Parts: sequence; structure tokens; C-alpha cells
Amino acid sequence: MARNHRDEAIVALIDRDLARAADDYTRAAYGTLAGVECEGDGRDLLGENARWAGFALSYLLLAGACYRANGENDRAAARCRAGIAVARDLQSAVLADPLDRACCAEFVGDFRVVGDVDSAIDAGTDTDGDNEMDAERNAAAYEEAADAYEAATAKADDPLSWASEPMASGAYRGPHQIARNGSHSFEWDEMHGSDPDSLAYLARRPRFKRSRLPAAVEGIVETGYVHPPRGTTEHNNATWRCPNCERSEVNWIAGETICLDCSVRMEEQ
Ligand SMILES: [Zn+2]
Repeated sequence: MARNHRDEAIVALIDRDLARAADDYTRAAYGTLAGVECEGDGRDLLGENARWAGFALSYLLLAGACYRANGENDRAAARCRAGIAVARDLQSAVLADPLDRACCAEFVGDFRVVGDVDSAIDAGTDTDGDNEMDAERNAAAYEEAADAYEAATAKADDPLSWASEPMASGAYRGPHQIARNGSHSFEWDEMHGSDPDSLAYLARRPRFKRSRLPAAVEGIVETGYVHPPRGTTEHNNATWRCPNCERSEVNWIAGETICLDCSVRMEEQ
């Protein structure tokens, strides 16, 4: 079987071809949404399996991130505006669970930050003076999510298990990958806090992203790179050596064997 578009995107990242990765993440997003590949395969994402659309949204976000890292700001904004449109439709017309709907607002915040959506609209007139207002609008999206999480958590049976279900996992995956191997990591425990019974347990997610995601996005813009995700990993595997850092920290992902730190293909010893 041919690799799916998510795997193709990951291979493109390993090839350091950000434009191709962005295109393949775009294809993965729509293929997933259409129910023909990745987590959407065989599922109705505009119907009874709508919460799996969280993964389609994560691929649109990663497409936007790859375009941003590649300096293609207009295309990044286009993907992220498309992501906002899909998320708002799911939120208002498709998803039933209030936690899933709150998660859509969290996605809107992510898309606004990754796509730098306002600045792209104001292109040509935008100056540094607008940044503060953009940040305020981004903050408003995350506050909407935090308020919705608090209201929904008060009535939810088990917010802890919801946090590992598809919408929440999709909303975690993109930012976690964008922040990988940078100085602004996104770890699960940091994002959720320590008390699953607290009203703030899920509301912490958007607030954490608001404080952390802009710096992670700056990181990919500065380095011009988005690392592939973490797959199966092994420390000190003597069979494999990284030609770049010369260590043996292995990450197996999308059929490739790459360095956990440098994301370059490893050499078999
Ligand atoms: Zn390395």
C-alpha cells in the first residue's frame, strides 16, 4: 500500500523540503476529512465520527506551520483560515459534546497564531504597531476556549479521559510537533496541570498555548524548519549512528530511521 499523505509529509520534512511537506500535509488534511486516509479512513467526519476531524485540523495546522517555516506566509494564512472555517463549522453545526466544541475554539487560537492570520490580511499596511492588537485577538480566541472548557468541565463525567480522545489529541499533536526540539517544548503534563478534578484542568490547555505557541512558531520561522513527529524511539541503539551529531538516538517514523535530535537519516553501523 502506498504511504498516506501524512507519511509523505514526514518524508518531505526529513528531505528538508518544506514546500512539499506543506502540500502533503494539506492533502492529508483533506483526505482525512474526506474519510479516505489516516485517522479518517472509513469514518464519517462530517457525521457520527466528527470528533476524528481533530486530526484533519492538526494536518491543516502543520501545513500552515510548514509554509510559515518556508517563508510562504500567504499560503500559511490560507491554510489556517481554512482550518478556522472547518473548526467553526464543526463547533456550531456538527459536534455535540461541549468539550469537543470547546476544543474547536482552541484550534481557532492555534490557527490564528500559526497562520499569523490578521497580519496576512493587513499585508502591505501591517507594521510592528499591529502586533499588539493581533496578540489581543489571538488571546480572545484562547479565552473563549478556556471559558467553554470551564463551563463544559463542570458538567463532564471524565475530563481526564476526554483529554486523550480524538479532538483533544489532534489539538495537542500539531503544537507539540511545531515545538519539537526547540526551546519552547509542549509537554502533556505542563499543558494540563496536575489536578484532573479541577475546573482549570482543561482550561489550562488554551492558556498554556497562548503563552507558549507564539514563541514556538517564532522558532520554526527562525530555523526554517519543522521537525517530524516523534515515532518509536530508542536511546543508544548501537546499530544506528547519526552522521550529524554522531549519537545513536533513534526515531522510527513513516518507515524512516532518523536521529531523534537532528531528524536526519541515520547510518547503519
Ligand atoms: Zn543527530
